Amino acid sequence: MRAAVVRAFGEPLVIEDRPDPVPGPGQVRVRVEASGLCHTDIHAAHGDWPVKPSPPFVPGHEGVGRVEELGDGVTHLAVGDRVAVPWLGWACGRCEHCLSGWETLCERQINTGYGCDGGYAEQMLAWADFAQPVPDGVSALDAAPLTCAGVTTYKALKVAGVRPTQLVAVSGVGGLGHLAVQYAKIAGARVAAIDVTDDKLELAAELGADLLIDARKDDVAQVLKRHGGAHAAIALAVNESAFAAVNAGLRRGGKLVMVALPAHGTIEVPIFDTVLNGTSVIGSIVGTRQDLAEVFRLHADGRTRVISETRPLDSVNRSIEDVLHGDVRARIVFDLTEGR
Ligand code: NAD
Ligand code: ZN
Ligand code: ZN
Repeated sequence: MRAAVVRAFGEPLVIEDRPDPVPGPGQVRVRVEASGLCHTDIHAAHGDWPVKPSPPFVPGHEGVGRVEELGDGVTHLAVGDRVAVPWLGWACGRCEHCLSGWETLCERQINTGYGCDGGYAEQMLAWADFAQPVPDGVSALDAAPLTCAGVTTYKALKVAGVRPTQLVAVSGVGGLGHLAVQYAKIAGARVAAIDVTDDKLELAAELGADLLIDARKDDVAQVLKRHGGAHAAIALAVNESAFAAVNAGLRRGGKLVMVALPAHGTIEVPIFDTVLNGTSVIGSIVGTRQDLAEVFRLHADGRTRVISETRPLDSVNRSIEDVLHGDVRARIVFDLTEGR
């Protein structure tokens, strides 16, 4: 089977022929149909973060396809079922976090496309308990971006506890942000969308954003303050100064939800303002299986739109460049059914 492989950090991925993977106990083999390119895959391929994957590895945690072989002990999935294989590839199911609805914080978790091979491939393995069934009516091409971009922003809005009429700042309208805008609207919020390209701001308007802020020329914090300040800011831009800007644009009691993961990222949080204004800074990492089930449900009910460009897996290196330059409508999805 063909796969796109990171052989060394910072080098172009290599398309390789690899042996078909064999599912172990509790696993399934998935024939991948669609696989989204998350900015996290670029961080993985560059070795950007303190905890690094070990090359060679296959990135990708938005893989969607059909189950084609069951490992021992798998009874709740059948050959032919369509599943999504998210970042949370496996968690222990026994620790405090797993038992309290926070499996995304499990210290023993294995991350797809990082701690084990991921979805940039014609076939992949998944732990059956963490392979999310995709409902009928959600295409593989739409399910792919929902599997990370969707669940992550849906969860970030839950974490922020957004209520109707509140002002939510969405900083960065890329793969994650274009869905964040929609979940914030579903929650009943007013949305301020912030980006640095005309296309992304236009897209945000199309998706229902009430206020557009161009971080190239507007003072983000000032514009937000002029509108009373944000009750919540969801930081999705891969840029430290963008975090600081929305933090400064919070209203009293507001919450900064950190989601993007720029390499070596840090921001200064002014103690005086944070204390006097009672603001919070919260980290939010992907979402649980239940969150993803809700994301798929909303999409099956016609409540969200996935904006993506479909490309062949061979385009992986150019596609990464295009994401880094912001030359992508929202999400790139590799179509693995080409030539099948
Ligand atoms: P993306 O490249 O598709 O989107 C980033 C967007 O930010 C682009 O639209 C870009 O134009 C915009 N942007 C750049 N500079 C900006 C600025 N100064 N102000 C406002 N907007 C700006 O990336 P993505 O796939 O949406 O991922 C975003 C980040 O989130 C990445 O760092 C990724 O690793 C991270 N991520 C985190 C989680 C999590 O669970 N915490 C999950 C998935 C992705
Ligand atoms: Zn992701
Ligand atoms: Zn656990």
